Amino acid sequence: MIYKPYGKTGKMVSALGFGGMRFKDDCSIEEGAEIVRYANSLGINYFDTAPNYCNDRSEDIFGEAFKNMSGEFYVSTKSSLGSEPDADSVRRRIENSLKRLGIDKINFHHMWCIMDLNHYKKVMAKGGPYWGALKAKEEGLIDHLVFSTHASGEEIRIMVEEGYFEGVTLGYNILNFPYRQEGILAAHQHGLGVATMNPLGGGLIPENQEYFSFVKQNQNESVVQAALRFNASHECISVTLSGMGSKEEVKHNVDAVKNLTILKNSQIETLKSSLRQDMNQLCTTCQYCKHCPKGINIPKYMDLYNYYVLKGINGIKEMYELLSKYGDIDFEKDMAPSDCIGCKKCETLCTQKLNIVDRLDWINRNVITK
Ligand code: SF4
Ligand code: SF4
Repeated sequence: MIYKPYGKTGKMVSALGFGGMRFKDDCSIEEGAEIVRYANSLGINYFDTAPNYCNDRSEDIFGEAFKNMSGEFYVSTKSSLGSEPDADSVRRRIENSLKRLGIDKINFHHMWCIMDLNHYKKVMAKGGPYWGALKAKEEGLIDHLVFSTHASGEEIRIMVEEGYFEGVTLGYNILNFPYRQEGILAAHQHGLGVATMNPLGGGLIPENQEYFSFVKQNQNESVVQAALRFNASHECISVTLSGMGSKEEVKHNVDAVKNLTILKNSQIETLKSSLRQDMNQLCTTCQYCKHCPKGINIPKYMDLYNYYVLKGINGIKEMYELLSKYGDIDFEKDMAPSDCIGCKKCETLCTQKLNIVDRLDWINRNVITK
């Protein structure tokens, strides 16, 4: 296992981290704990969980595993910020996580799922969640205060530059990396650790192996391994999280990051240009089209359309339902596809030359259910 520095924290974390959101429904607490301990025995030392993962069993599974884990390890968990979060509610959540995990201190505590700059401001407001977590840190309950986010690279840069956090966790993979690259570079420049989640594009990559076979460096590696290596080999990424629900998956994924050659940014840029040639039907979420006069969040809808390109009508419908359920698509903020007036300004700006107007119209007619 290769270990990389997590920002300026002094901690060396395994290039592959264990994401605790993929334990199977029929997996018992002890069976899950056994998988976690096995991962630790293969060198994984970064374990990421959160309240509510896996029907709210994930923290309990890790807590069970930690009772008998022999190797050194670091624990990452999160405070859900809710609709009107405050310092006291975050404090309660931290105490609850400590109890369930059976530990005295959370190594990496996340302000969870910051969606954009407005959300960030709420987190940082006086008396808000950040200050509750900071107090817990001062009392020794937390090692490092970090955040997770689904914001754009540009917004992540702004958050990072404010200087309140020691690390960031963000979604990054061969589908969306242009959208987040700026945030990763900014975090690295400012000495923050970077954890990446969703390296397999929410299952899109393993479920479409033929389509993504171009990322493989040789015939012996699987597409999943190639996708993990793409993240883990980035010099600005400290740890690549992968949700693992069996020992076989753990072994397969650990093999992917063996003998990893850390790529320089210049090499990533070269890879980026060759990837794009293969991705000509997919939106890369680069955001060049974002100057819509109607304020439509075009990258978000085009990213959704990716699921139609790759997985067909059921794939896009399932993803839309999931995004709606968690408020990741909000017609008040993102506007609706039906708000498009067909000016085609976006199409002239699109780096992929996508027929955005037609795609929005198609989503409106075939996918939107309210
Ligand atoms: S064509 Fe539609 S989505 Fe594109 S910029 Fe004009 S209004 Fe916005
Ligand atoms: S629609 Fe085109 S310009 Fe807009 S984010 Fe996607 S690829 Fe980039």
